[in-house]
Order: sequence, then C-alpha cells, then structure tokens
Amino acid sequence: MKKSDIKTRKRDDITPVETRREWKLLYHQPGRPGLEEGYKLAGICRHCDLKDMCSLPKSEGGVWHCRYYKAFQKKSNLYSHVLEQLEKAKDVVHFDDNICKILTETMNEIVVHFPVKMRDGKVKVLTGYRVQHNNALGPFKGGLRFHPAVDIDEIKALATLMTWKTAIANIPFGGAKGGIQLDPAEFSQEEMERISRRFTFALGNNIGPEYDIPAPDVNTNSQIMAWIQDTYMSTVAPNERNRCAHVVTGKPIESGGSQGREKATGQGVVFLIEKWASDYGMDLKGATYTVQGFGNVGSWAARLMKLHGSKLIAVEDVTGSILNKDGIDPDDLAAYVKVHGGVWGYLKAEPIDHVTFFTTKADIFIPCALENQITDTTAELLDVRLIAEGANGPTDTEGDKILQRRKIAVIPDILCNSGGVIVSYFEWLQNKRSEFWDLEEVDFKLRKTINAAYDRVRGAAETHKVDWRTAAQIVALSRLEMVYKERGIFP
Ligand code: NAD
Repeated sequence: MKKSDIKTRKRDDITPVETRREWKLLYHQPGRPGLEEGYKLAGICRHCDLKDMCSLPKSEGGVWHCRYYKAFQKKSNLYSHVLEQLEKAKDVVHFDDNICKILTETMNEIVVHFPVKMRDGKVKVLTGYRVQHNNALGPFKGGLRFHPAVDIDEIKALATLMTWKTAIANIPFGGAKGGIQLDPAEFSQEEMERISRRFTFALGNNIGPEYDIPAPDVNTNSQIMAWIQDTYMSTVAPNERNRCAHVVTGKPIESGGSQGREKATGQGVVFLIEKWASDYGMDLKGATYTVQGFGNVGSWAARLMKLHGSKLIAVEDVTGSILNKDGIDPDDLAAYVKVHGGVWGYLKAEPIDHVTFFTTKADIFIPCALENQITDTTAELLDVRLIAEGANGPTDTEGDKILQRRKIAVIPDILCNSGGVIVSYFEWLQNKRSEFWDLEEVDFKLRKTINAAYDRVRGAAETHKVDWRTAAQIVALSRLEMVYKERGIFP
C-alpha cells in the first residue's frame, strides 16, 4: 500500500486494522520538523515494534520513527532556555546580582540508582532524580515524571520553573521536580507499583510533608501518588504515620486527595483563557482551539473549553494527530483515549501529519505535552491568536522570539499551568487541618488565586513594556528578591 492510495480512500471504507496501518505510515512521514535522518533508536519503537532504523523504503517515508523517540534522542535544551529567561528579566529590572547567583543554581540534586524485581524474575536497576531548586518561600514542591527523556538537566529546568510558578501564584512553596528515566509502556501495573515504592524508599528523607512534596506529572497519576504516600507512611515511626498523609499531593480523594485536583491544571488554563478572552475581546462561544497532548492537562482543558461553547478542531498526542473542522467532542475523545491509549485511530476525525496539525488555523492553541514543541520551525506554522501553555516549557528560545515577532499572544507556562500546584497547596492545607473542601470551594479559591496571578503578570507586562513570559519572570523574581533581602544570607 502506498501513501497516495491511502489519501484517495474514503474513511468509511477503512476497517480498524487498516486504519492502524494508515496511521503507521503517517508516523513514518519524512519532513516533520526536527526529525533528522540517521538517528539510531535506543530501543524498540512502542508504536511499530521496529528496533533500529525504519524498515520502510524511503519512497514510503521510511526515514524515522515517532516523536516519542525524538524526545528520547534529541536532548532538551530547556535548562538553558530557563536560564536565558532569568537573565532577560534580570536585565529589564536590574535585579540584585547576588540573589540571581543563588537562583541560577539548584540547591540539591539527588540521583538514586535502585534495583527493582521484574516479572521475569530479573532485576533492573533504574535511575531516579529529585532536584530541589529553591525553598525560600516554603517547602520544595513539584511533580514526578516517568519518561524515557528524563535526565538531570530536564529535571533541573522543571524544578526551576516550579520556583517561579509558586512565587507568581503567591503560595508558600519552593520549587522541585523529580522523575525516573523509563517508558511506562514497558512495565506491568505490578512493576510500576514496585518501581514507585522502591524509588520512594531510595529518596528516603529527601522528601517529606514539610520538606519536599511530590505530585503527578507526565505519566504519573493519583495511583502512583497513593503508592508513594503509603511507602513513605510505612517507613516512619507508627506514631508519626498519620501526620505524613500530605507527603504527596494529587492523591486519590479517599486517601486524602482534594476535590478538583485531577482537573486543576486544565481548569486553571481555562480560567486564564476566559480572563484573557474577556480582556482582549475574544468570544469563546464558537471560538476554535487545538490541543497538543491529551493526557491529564490536555484532556481536561479541552473538556472544560467545551463548556464555553468553543470548538476543538485538532488534537495531537504521542500516537499521532487528528483533525475535524466540524468539531471533535473532547468527552468522546477522552473516552476513546482511555481505552486505546492515544488519539491514534479515532475514526470521527481524520489523521493528519505533524505539520498540518501546526498549520491548522484556530483561535487558540493549547500545548499540553512536552517541552520544546514550539520551535523556530513550528512557531512559523502556527495560525492562532492565543497560545495558552498548559505544558511546562513548550516553547523554546527561538520559537519564543518568533511568536513575539508575529504578535501571537502567549499565556506563559509558569502562570498558565499553575492551577495544578495551587490546588496541590489546597490539598496540602486540607490534610494539615483535617478538612475536606467541596468542589465549589476549591474552584472558587483556584479562580481567585490564579486570576490574581494573571493580574500581577499583566500589570508587570504593562509597567515594564515586556512580553508576558518576561513579565511573569519579573513577578517571580521580585517576590524572591524581597524575601532574600528581608532575611539576608546566612551566616
Ligand atoms: P500526561 O502523561 O497525562 O499526558 C501527556 C500527554 O502528552 C499525552 O497525551 C502524550 O501522548 C502527549 N505527548 C507526549 N509526548 C508527546 C509528543 N512528543 N508529541 C505530542 N504529544 C506528546 O501528562 P500531563 O500531566 O497532562 O502533563 C502534560 C504537561 O503539562 C507536561 O509538560 C507537564 O509538566 C505539564 N503540567 C502538568 C501538571 C499536572 O498537574 N499534571 C501541572 C502543571 C504542568
């Protein structure tokens, strides 16, 4: 079967098996930005089981595999982007050099290698990270990511972003991040439990309810938080056990989780889109939007946008990209993704390639996948008015410059996706006070907190005449600078 054959066929004629084949071919399309010939895979491609270079002839697009492995092979430069942003903001408002020196470095970088027994009886030694960037404003706080692309630089960058995020939201936490370099698809549920528990044990007292509080991130969820919570609580003295329930947030409700935490990041994104739309005259009813990443953040953001009468027209995740200009029902797609693990093969939309996804004209683009997706190539393709960054670091330095030149408005990640850590703070407070807030109360407080953060960032952008990313950074640095100046540097 040739690619040209597929294009001329009607979708109704395609059986599910053939559809998968069609998707597989799309995966091997050449010319996707950022994909380069000659990259060698480091494992078995999860999508097509090929071990090395693609075996399809070049005429059929046999150049490369999926972007999942792009992420694995092409190391992210997110950390340098984060430091560049810091420098840029520092120059605008002449921040104290000494304080900037402190914030340029992470406080603690913990790397653990721990053994886990696999289902075949063999032992695998895995590498896990926890980076604690800064705790001037409160205990370290940040998610745990399980992904093949996880490495120390990525975690350092994400930990640093957490410090800015909590400072902008004005909540009493510092910044941290952690993760394990693994592909969850390779492990059974039982193995994932053993990995999560053994990682927690290896971290030991480097985390704690008043010291460093993990939460879910890419490929981690409330179940993994429950295992971490239980492991931590089981390794402290019995009389301390119940004072440690808030060692993680994003737990299941029954284990002390908060109402509204699961949707919190997506909800925060949508509250901010609402506010921006009202400030800048965009009618959300009938507005079109595209979403990259359809996991926790992306699927919730998409579903909550539907409540405003907005129309989802294109979605991309690690399995592929889909388009339906008449609208994709986000609830229906979420139900499909739950069963099939991705948007790949969803028959109520047509499969498209990565370039078409980025060129799709819409009012709003909501990136909710990984970092470095809006680059010098893809930023030129985007045809949208607003980008609401649900993901951390989705725009790289070059992409950012292009968005500014093209006057595409951006609600930057450190403001836009702070709904998650804000409701994590609410969960932590509820646990400490033995309280249970209802969803209405959580949503009310989230909206108030995140809208206040938005006002601070918009105010800084207007005062200093800078883009919103720099403005957000200025807000964060100002708060941290104030605290360091009040307290001084010990001794
Ligand atoms: P998730 O694991 O639930 O979902 C990740 C999604 O991204 C999946 O749909 C996956 O298919 C997609 N994806 C992965 N690689 C991709 C690629 N190369 N191209 C396209 N899609 C790809 O993760 P999540 O919790 O929704 O997190 C998504 C982003 O939001 C991350 O950047 C994360 O750091 C950020 N974030 C998450 C939270 C939270 O509360 N979960 C809070 C703040 C920020």
